[in-house]
Amino acid sequence: MTTNSERRILVTGGGGFIGSHLCQRLIDSGHSVLCVDNFVSSVPSNIAALLDHPQFELIQQDVALPLDVQVHQIYNLACPASPIQYQRDAVQTIRTNVAGAMNVLELAKATGARVLQASTSEIYGDPAVHPQPESYWGHVNPIGVRACYDEGKRCAEALFFAYHHQFSIDIKVVRIFNTYGPRTQLNDGRVISNFIVQALRGEDITIYGDGSQTRSFCYVDDMVSGLIAMMNSEPGFTGPVNLGNPEELSILELAQVLRKQTDSHSQLVFKALPQDDPRQRMPEIELARQRLGWYPTTPLVVGLERTIDYFRRELAAASKETTSTTITA
Ligand code: UDP
Repeated sequence: MTTNSERRILVTGGGGFIGSHLCQRLIDSGHSVLCVDNFVSSVPSNIAALLDHPQFELIQQDVALPLDVQVHQIYNLACPASPIQYQRDAVQTIRTNVAGAMNVLELAKATGARVLQASTSEIYGDPAVHPQPESYWGHVNPIGVRACYDEGKRCAEALFFAYHHQFSIDIKVVRIFNTYGPRTQLNDGRVISNFIVQALRGEDITIYGDGSQTRSFCYVDDMVSGLIAMMNSEPGFTGPVNLGNPEELSILELAQVLRKQTDSHSQLVFKALPQDDPRQRMPEIELARQRLGWYPTTPLVVGLERTIDYFRRELAAASKETTSTTITA
């Protein structure tokens, strides 16, 4: 029998970047974790340390396929989140977001589990209001290249609130802003991993547009704390709640910071700005502060240092692998 504080928790996308950190934290807190992932944009090595743990279970499957499991809580994180990755198979991205949300909501309906949706700052699109409060409805191109993700996530939010109002499902919705840290894939394509890998390899650092667009970056440990705080917040508090770091910087500033922190001599080169790339993004996090007592505590330089260390190790491991393959061949 489990006590109230030890729960069986389902994490969809639990093998991914944020998901694997969340699984680890939940296991460390004494819970049982059921991880569902099809590893479309992640690798099983993210959860290698958990695979032998008696309270950890992995089901390798698509979140859009039915799940017949008994759980107390569900974190729905499954979906590629990097623009180049989610645009590769736009139809599948919409399916993952919409059918996946429907699937976890049906499971919540059948089991009485509380269910948290990992929504996104992308639902604000290219925002006309800055910083973005939860009350802002957004400015999204519904037929653009990012629509599969943005509209998929918007539809998922609509589904969560429809299930809440129609069937009294216990929902929690968070909107995750740009997050970074160890376990992002080398080829993920998002800005922090790209810049670090380019800087460490001495390659050109690719700035899209003139680099004046802004983002605000939250370290993954802070994000995991926010997700857990929201999941365990008072009954009836549904959100949506923004989770992110309210410190804004331009992409050009980020490139300069990273070049300095990696002691790199890489050149900064300017490439075309992708279609519908938001010009500015920064969360308003008063709601999270007031209702969850949550705010990020990891300074950017500290989080970047840990992330740089991670990529140094990944690059060393990748080059060792290449060397041994060459020798074997
Ligand atoms: N970006 C860049 N160079 C890269 C990758 C991304 O300048 O190699 C820019 C991108 O155009 C965007 C910002 O960095 O303005 C953040 O991009 P990312 O893909 O990390 O996530 P987004 O916030 O756009 O979802």
